[in-house]
Amino acid sequence: MTTQTETAAPIRVRIAPSPTGDPHVGTAYIGLLNFIYARQRGGQFVLRIEDTDRTRFVSTSEQMIFDSLRWLGLTWDEGPDVGGPYGPYRQSERTQIYREHIEKLLASGHAYRSFETTEELEAMRKSQIAAKLPPRYNGAHRELSQAQIDAFLGEGRPYVVRLKVPVDGETSFRDELRGTVTFSHNNVDDQVLMKSDGFPTYHLANVVDDHLMRITDVIRAEEWISSTPKHVLLYKAFGWELPRFWHMPLLRNLDKSKISKRKNPVSLIYYRESGFLPQALLNFLGLMGGGMAQPTEEEIVSKGINSKEGDIFSLAEMLERFDFQRISLGGPVFDLTKLKWMNGEYLRAMPPEGFLQALRDTIFSDEHLRRIGLLVQTRIETLAQFGDMADFFFKDDVMPAPEVFVPKKRTLEETLAFAAEQLAVLEATDFREEALEPALKQLGVDKEWPVKDNFMLLRAILTGKTASPPLLESLIVFGKARTLDRMRRFLETQKRLGGGRK
Ligand code: GLU
Repeated sequence: MTTQTETAAPIRVRIAPSPTGDPHVGTAYIGLLNFIYARQRGGQFVLRIEDTDRTRFVSTSEQMIFDSLRWLGLTWDEGPDVGGPYGPYRQSERTQIYREHIEKLLASGHAYRSFETTEELEAMRKSQIAAKLPPRYNGAHRELSQAQIDAFLGEGRPYVVRLKVPVDGETSFRDELRGTVTFSHNNVDDQVLMKSDGFPTYHLANVVDDHLMRITDVIRAEEWISSTPKHVLLYKAFGWELPRFWHMPLLRNLDKSKISKRKNPVSLIYYRESGFLPQALLNFLGLMGGGMAQPTEEEIVSKGINSKEGDIFSLAEMLERFDFQRISLGGPVFDLTKLKWMNGEYLRAMPPEGFLQALRDTIFSDEHLRRIGLLVQTRIETLAQFGDMADFFFKDDVMPAPEVFVPKKRTLEETLAFAAEQLAVLEATDFREEALEPALKQLGVDKEWPVKDNFMLLRAILTGKTASPPLLESLIVFGKARTLDRMRRFLETQKRLGGGRK
C-alpha cells in the first residue's frame, strides 16, 4: 500500500461541487464537515468547481452554490470567487494542466488510447449483458502497436484515454472511518480519464487537482468510495503521495434509501426560500453522522434554549465539540419533520424583533413584495384584497380538492398522470416565460390536453384556486424550487388519498 499523508503538512481540505443544477443539501453537509475539519485544525478550506461535464453544466449553478453556502455561514479560504495561490479553481480553466498530465500517463504506459466507436462500445456492453457479465471495457485497445495507434491517429479517429488498471491483484487504501478498504482489480474498470472532446473526466481532474492544490484530506460522500481505487492507482502512476480519505455516510430518506428529491426537498434554494433559518439547517446537518459529542448537563442548562436532547447547537459549538472519530457509518436519516421541529425551536428562541426581522428579510422582503405587488396591483379594488389574491405565495402548503383541479371530461387518474408530466417538464425547464410557455404547451400538444385545462390544472396546484394572477409569472415569482416541491407534495398527497390508481 502506498503510504498516505503522515507528515504534518498544513491541513488543506476541499469541496468540489459540480454546477449541474440547484445546490444540493449533500453539498452543504459535506461542506460543513470540511469546514469544521479545517477550522478545528487551523487549516485551509478550498472550494473547487468541477465543471468538466459540459452536458450537465448549468450556467446559474455556480453562483447559487456560492450564495447558498454563504447563506449557511460557510466560508472558504480559496475558490473561484476569492482566488488563492493554487488557482484557477474552476476545472474548465485548467484543461491544459489535465492534457499535460494525460501525456505523462500515456508516456509512462499507465494509460492508453482507446479508439472504439460508440456503436462498438454499445455492442460490447450488450454482449456482456447477454452473457450475464458485468458490463465493462474489454481491454481490446490496451496493447495496440504503435503502428496501429499512428494509423488510427492518421485517420483522425476520435479516441478516449483510459487508465490501464492492472489485470491481476488488488488496490487497498486506508479510509479514516473504515480502516483498510480493498478492491480487487477484477472489479475496477479501465476508467476513461479523458473524453474524446479533450475534456478530462471527474477521476483525472479530481486527482490532479487534489494533488496540485495540496489537499491533505479528501472528505467526501460515501458514494465516491468505489472511485477511490482508481484514484489511488492514479496517485501511484504519477508517483504522488496519497491524501487521507474520509468517506462520509450518505444522507438518507426516511426509508433509508439514498436521499432523493422524490422523497425530500434536496435543493438548498428550497430551504432558503421556504423560510428555514440557516442556523437551524446547519445545526441539523451537524447532527448527521453523529459527530457531535453530547453536551454536559451544565452546558444544557446554561444555553437557555430548549436543548433537552442535546441536539441544538451553534456552528461555534460544532467547532468546539465535533469529533470526526465519533462519526458512525449507519446512514444518517434526513428527517424533514425533525428539521422543521428544529427550525421551530430557533424561531421560538428569537426575540420578537429578530423574528420580525427574519420575516422582513425573507418572505416579506421588499424585493419579494415588489414582485408580487406587480402581479396583483391591477387586479384588486382594495388593499385588503391583496391577501385574497396573493395568499398562495405565503403559504407552505395548498391542497386543492378534486372539484377544483380535475377538468370536466377528465378522470382523477388522468389528471394526476398529466400533473406528473407537468412536473417532469417543469423540472427540466428554466423558469423564464420564454422557456416555460412553449415547454408546457408542447406537453399539452403531445398529450392532447387543451391549453386551458393544462394551465388550469397547474394553477390549481400552485394556488389552490381557479383564479389567480397570471400563471407563468406567478410560477416564476414563486420560484422553481418551491414550485417543484408544491407539485411533488400535491402528487404525494393525492397518491396517499388513493387518487391516480391505475
Ligand atoms: N465533483 C464531485 C461532486 O460533485 C466531487 C466528489 C469529490 O469530492 O471527490 O461531488
